[in-house]
Amino acid sequence: MSKAARIDLEAVEAAIRAAVLSAGADICTELLKATGKGRRSAQVICGCGQVMRSTGIERKVLTTVLGAVPFDRSRFECPQCGASRYPGDEELDISGTTRSPGVRRMTARAGSRQPFKEAREDLRVYAGIEVSPKDVERVAERIGETIAAWQRTENEALLAAAIPRSNEKTIPVLYVEMDGTGVPMVASAVEGRKGKQPDGSAKTREVKLGCVFTQTFTDAEGFPVRDPDSSSFVGAIETADSFSSRIEAEAVRRGLYEAEKVVVLGDGAVWIRQLVEMHLPRAIQIVDLYHAREHLSDLCRVLFSSDEKKMIHHRIRWWHDLDQGMVEKIINEARMRLPADAETRKKAEAELNYFNENKERMRYAEFRKQGFFVGSGVVEAGCKHIIGSRLKQSGMEWTVRGANAIIALRCLIHSGRFEEFWESRAA
Ligand SMILES: [Zn+2]
Repeated sequence: MSKAARIDLEAVEAAIRAAVLSAGADICTELLKATGKGRRSAQVICGCGQVMRSTGIERKVLTTVLGAVPFDRSRFECPQCGASRYPGDEELDISGTTRSPGVRRMTARAGSRQPFKEAREDLRVYAGIEVSPKDVERVAERIGETIAAWQRTENEALLAAAIPRSNEKTIPVLYVEMDGTGVPMVASAVEGRKGKQPDGSAKTREVKLGCVFTQTFTDAEGFPVRDPDSSSFVGAIETADSFSSRIEAEAVRRGLYEAEKVVVLGDGAVWIRQLVEMHLPRAIQIVDLYHAREHLSDLCRVLFSSDEKKMIHHRIRWWHDLDQGMVEKIINEARMRLPADAETRKKAEAELNYFNENKERMRYAEFRKQGFFVGSGVVEAGCKHIIGSRLKQSGMEWTVRGANAIIALRCLIHSGRFEEFWESRAA
């Protein structure tokens, strides 16, 4: 090929894309001319009950994925209270914003995945959309809040309909996993709270994260296999009480009543135990094996701090006993080795207490025989990936409101429900 015939493909791509988008924006402008003005079949009614009067046409310029699109629509005003409405905006889902649904959706998605500044860069490079980092934050927050409200309504309906949809048990095992993870907060969000800082103050708030998934098969060795794409996540910075309803509703949505068996995996924390007793009473509770092992290691450190060989020896032995679910044996053996020093003894007894209270939830040999998962790896991965990788980056500080909006967005996207949410808005 001669040099003269060679084309600069990238320049051509960019030029054609710009031209196509511009033509698209023109088409969009034409299409919108039929919306939001002209004779209406029904009166426009104010929130106060009055019939509103048209005050003529007003233009707003929309930012769309095709570029700027002018939109002329009628404005209505209430003679009674002075409130205004734009029925055209309501029809197009652009009330109180100049950003089209398509732009808002992309913006929210980008802002949920990365810091707002980087999201803004990506939107510019990938989609040619110009927004400020603050815009990204506002849009992502607003959509996150809308998602949270949408889910509140959904959850209320799920919990109100306490009757099983059918008696057929179509899900062999439904798992519910829960965990907590700290997120760094602005000072005002942790004021007066107790925390792990040297002076007893707090820098973080706990996000409670829950995960629901199903399991149908075990592999050739009898190990459980999680059903592909079956995990969904819910979470928020909130009280154990609010979270209880949230996770119960999610379990109902995912088939709590259709499940033959329900297994709850957690770290043995008291709030999780109470939650299960109140909200998931027929569930089989299992303390995550790795948390239990961690506690055993701590116990060994307290009992044998002066003798490393003994410490390792007991740890190996007791881990083995733990695998067998022989918690009473561990407790009895440890009781005979309690240190004389009052302070250390107290620490050791606290650990023993943890095992004593959770022993029925640590029958690992039995759980394995039934083909259950004994580790809460899915929710822990969720804590890292859904919460940590976005909300715990260095230098970040969140308000409760901002964090919860992004958590709602990220949980929904990772549950594969973003599309569903968007369609419910359009309906
Ligand atoms: Zn009014």
